[in-house]
Amino acid sequence: MGGAVSKVREAKLELYRKKGKIHAKAVDGRFNSLRWGMVWFTQTIFYGLCWLNWESEGTVRQAVLFDIAHEKLYLFGLVLWPQDALLLAFVLIIAATALFLVTALAGRLFCGFACPQTVYTSIFTWIEARVEGDHLARLRLDGSPLSARKLLIKTAKHGIWALVAGWTAISFVGYFTPIRELLPTIAGLRTGPWEAFWLIFYAAFTYVQAGLAREAVCQHMCPYSRFQGVMFDPATRNVAYDRTRGEARSNRRQTGKTGDCIDCGICVQVCPTGIDIRDGLQYQCINCGLCIDACDQVMDKIGVARGLIRFASENELAAPEKQQPWFARPRVGVYAALLLVFCGLGGWTLSQRSLLLVDVLRDRGALLRESSEGLIENAYTLKLMNLSEVPRQFVIRVSGIPGARIVGQDSFAADPGSIRPISLTVAAPADSGLSGIRPMDFVIVASDDPAVQVVEKSSFALPQLPN
Ligand code: SF4
Ligand code: SF4
Repeated sequence: MGGAVSKVREAKLELYRKKGKIHAKAVDGRFNSLRWGMVWFTQTIFYGLCWLNWESEGTVRQAVLFDIAHEKLYLFGLVLWPQDALLLAFVLIIAATALFLVTALAGRLFCGFACPQTVYTSIFTWIEARVEGDHLARLRLDGSPLSARKLLIKTAKHGIWALVAGWTAISFVGYFTPIRELLPTIAGLRTGPWEAFWLIFYAAFTYVQAGLAREAVCQHMCPYSRFQGVMFDPATRNVAYDRTRGEARSNRRQTGKTGDCIDCGICVQVCPTGIDIRDGLQYQCINCGLCIDACDQVMDKIGVARGLIRFASENELAAPEKQQPWFARPRVGVYAALLLVFCGLGGWTLSQRSLLLVDVLRDRGALLRESSEGLIENAYTLKLMNLSEVPRQFVIRVSGIPGARIVGQDSFAADPGSIRPISLTVAAPADSGLSGIRPMDFVIVASDDPAVQVVEKSSFALPQLPN
């Protein structure tokens, strides 16, 4: 029975983790420091930014907040609306193009240093190492039979993981519900259904992805690992083993001098995805550089130059004596040019953004009518969208038709972030000399700031003059 259970367990492992759980050896060095630098940088922003307040127009609010209920995105002094979706599209396009550029230059660099999966896996494995010990102690613990000590250690680890995952979920939801309002509702078990769902889902997601699945996500779930190869060319720099210099690998003490690789296997032991970089470029490699740190230490110990494993392109490895232009390449030029163009277009779109949007609709009932004073009148419905954070008064006038004016009230108030529908009548003299449908503009200006102004094209219907 026990054997059958263990076979089922092994079969499950085979599905996605052929080598069983990976316990990577810790290593110090340049790339490990850079990796932790990125963990601190990204997580200080993620966990900290939701607590930052911003004062705007006399009110204090959360600096970064996706207010889904009111369809607003607060970004420090900027308030974006669904009408600004083009800006969001530019942000996504710029991020994708930057990723292509970085990948063309240095392979899967994003995966190794900035991807949330890598960052959270680093945090979770760091906790694991503090609780369970180094990689050898962890291997021993995993292989040992269940005991009170093992249960205690495993419970402590999973408990700390759950706390980190929980706080990560609270920080995440805090970007959608102001975090200072969210915390008391969690403490009082009064969260709304959506907040409760996302808190539980995001905590479970973080716990499973970073604590349990780890490198399996990079290897089996991440689509980027599968298509990144199309962005590579022989000049793309990746973490690579210098086969010419390293082979034939052997233990020098036993065999005498051959290649620089002493076959110590430390580069494999430190690899978070459990691969051997000496087998060549593999899609499982996240370019974290930890094997470089490990191998450099070995090279120092045996007294040969560092760099047996290093960031190098196929071209550089094939012909190290040649100067290889690793960044001046057509592919890199195209990605860099596209990035500049999209940044320019995004910046221009932002600079042209207006805090007032206006829609003008002609009255569908009657094209025109004649007033008791003999004026020709046309009816319209205007929708004023006040996209600023302050209430505003807007003055409306018309231009393009001689003598045309708005009948009655021409100044209207609109609340911050509101859409105000307005019914308007425009009157023009019947003897203006014009006839038929004539172009006319509505000019709408904020009374407190003439720069907030919109000119919206429309038309005015006049009677046809007899021939
Ligand atoms: S760490 Fe360096 S020397 Fe040791 S096995 Fe790996 S490549 Fe060879
Ligand atoms: S092979 Fe090296 S660079 Fe690639 S994932 Fe493993 S340790 Fe990181």
